Amino acid sequence: MKICIDPGHGGTDPGAVGRCGDQDLCEHDIALQICLSLEELLLEQGHLTYLTRRVDRNLSLPARTQFANRYQADLFISIHCNAAYQPTAAGIETWIHPFSNVGRQYATPIQKSLTQALSDHKNRGVKEADFHVLRETAMPAVLVETEFISNPEQAEFLAKGENQRRIAQAIAEGISQACLQPAPAGDES
Ligand SMILES: [Zn+2]
Repeated sequence: MKICIDPGHGGTDPGAVGRCGDQDLCEHDIALQICLSLEELLLEQGHLTYLTRRVDRNLSLPARTQFANRYQADLFISIHCNAAYQPTAAGIETWIHPFSNVGRQYATPIQKSLTQALSDHKNRGVKEADFHVLRETAMPAVLVETEFISNPEQAEFLAKGENQRRIAQAIAEGISQACLQPAPAGDES
């Protein structure tokens, strides 16, 4: 399968910024590290991978979706860290475009795999939103909000390379579970 992996934000857009010890922790860095690990694992599973960015650089939302569409990827997966005004907000959630059955086919096992592998994290479920990257991609698309970088405890979790790899491992496992399922009734989003 051709999988387009999209590390959220980058360049002058750091995404959400949390604190870990006395350091700022930027969503765009965490997302990129998770994506690089995810790429390695998906390559091992025999998939072809395309990253929308491999370094810290600016990339518009249309550039990300056009990239995935140009390579005719079979799956688009965007990786983010969540943020909320309330510092205690925590948990993992996966987003799909509203009513996307093909998106849900991937999102459900990815969310399940993440919350099983990271069982001490809150399961916020699969959610629907009209996000650009979910709407403008011509293939099944999911967006994973890995944890809340705005929560000091979860920022510490996200900052650890070992945990970034655990997240990547769980997502890769979820994708391989999804590949074992029969295809749902088709839709184009
Ligand atoms: Zn983000």
